[in-house]
Amino acid sequence: MISCFKKRGISMKDPRLAKAWKNLSQYSKSDKISLSQFQDIFSHEFSFLEHIAGNHLVVPDFVDFREKIESIYSKVEQCHDGEVASYIPQLARVDPEKFAVSICTIDGQVINLGDFDELLCVQSSCKPINYCLALEEHGLEKVHSHIGHEPSGQSFNELSLNSKGLPHNPLINSGAIMACSLIKPNLSIADRFDHVLTTWKKVTNSTSVGFNNSVYLSERETADRNYALAYFMRENNAFPEGTNLEKTLEFYFQCCSIETNTKNLAVLAATLANGGLNPFSNEKVFESSTIKNCLSLMNSCGMYDYSGEFSFHIGLPAKSGVSGVVYVVVPNTLGICIWSPRLDKHGNSVRAIQFCKELTKTFLFHNYDSLVTEQQDKINPRLVEEHEAAGKVQQLCYAAARGDTQYIQSLLIRGVDINSKDYDKRTPLHLAVCEGQFEAVKYLILHGADLLAKDRWGRCPLDEVKDSQSQAIKSWVKAWSPKVKATSKERSKKTGSKKSRTGIVEA
Ligand code: GLN
Repeated sequence: MISCFKKRGISMKDPRLAKAWKNLSQYSKSDKISLSQFQDIFSHEFSFLEHIAGNHLVVPDFVDFREKIESIYSKVEQCHDGEVASYIPQLARVDPEKFAVSICTIDGQVINLGDFDELLCVQSSCKPINYCLALEEHGLEKVHSHIGHEPSGQSFNELSLNSKGLPHNPLINSGAIMACSLIKPNLSIADRFDHVLTTWKKVTNSTSVGFNNSVYLSERETADRNYALAYFMRENNAFPEGTNLEKTLEFYFQCCSIETNTKNLAVLAATLANGGLNPFSNEKVFESSTIKNCLSLMNSCGMYDYSGEFSFHIGLPAKSGVSGVVYVVVPNTLGICIWSPRLDKHGNSVRAIQFCKELTKTFLFHNYDSLVTEQQDKINPRLVEEHEAAGKVQQLCYAAARGDTQYIQSLLIRGVDINSKDYDKRTPLHLAVCEGQFEAVKYLILHGADLLAKDRWGRCPLDEVKDSQSQAIKSWVKAWSPKVKATSKERSKKTGSKKSRTGIVEA
């Protein structure tokens, strides 16, 4: 059982198993456990166990996934470009060689590589959480009457506001200071900070989220630009009425000084990927609509003035901090956190950007990968449930019968087999021919549909072609078949094969 957990990426320290291990500790190693005792031990986690044993986890082949992640990690580790942030001594002193990658899926499968237990300062990566808190407290309209939702196209602490005199978005300094002004404004700063920290503990499902006092003191001492931003916003009447500027800034510096590790940040990212539901505690920390808004902004504004490029190349919501941390969200699948302190000219970790590039080169994770057909070299590590797969086959057959080639294409990209069969063993090509869908017939045949696949009555699409009312289909298939025969003859000369791509056996 333990090796099954490991294979699936379930950690022995998984909090969902804590009770079971405690129950198990009553037995000694030599005890033979009966079935009913086993049921007692795991009584609370039975459905979780079934999920693991049946391998219904979101990344089913976790061994292969882990191998690929480890190889990306090793490749990226070779890079030593960039400079550590030096505006405060606490960041300047961090070992530039530190490197950690943590991944957590929405089912709680984990990978932790390198310095994943080391504490790091979250800096700007606190901004999405503060934005979510402000949204849940006040709603979208109120929050965005004080903050825009456009990328600024400038650096994160640029002294600039949008045409309405508001900060461009909540993920740069001005907008994050504004978000702070909206979080529990009537409480003391101590209680406001507790409120934020409690939320962090919930999203990470961890108690090891702390505060780095020296970072906080340094941030406060070198805060001229953040003060300038705040005064500039006050001059433009951007703050909610009654905002205390000094207290708001103090609160902002405290949030940037939160300290944790990549292990926890990956869980935070997984909670975002899971629509606000923490995979370990099952607690709904944020509403799904809040997460949707937050991820939209992370997608367009999360990576400083590299956000447009990141969205173009990587196509995933992410947030960066000057400590060299980046967390990335693959919605409905997993969260990733990368930490490496050397930064590029935009303030993003060089290794983290490289890691993300390699990641989307290897896996079908880019937002719009599903639109592109020829990407056989990329892997989709996600689970396709059996009923989901059966549903997709039905959809493919229906799309073929309707002649909807665009939808056929999109289903094929998502991995549905072009020769899959319905309950009567009819293939999409059978249906397209019967319904006289000329374009769909052409598309299916050109993409490898088998003209000789037999249905439960022994009829193949070629038989349907012969009986078809559509002259266009008849003549196209007739003209096309010899071409296939010719190419497959050539091919069979080389390979000795007797069967063509469509299954037409050579005479
Ligand atoms: N504390 C930093 C600041 O406000 C945060 C910067 C960052 O991570 N981009 O300047």
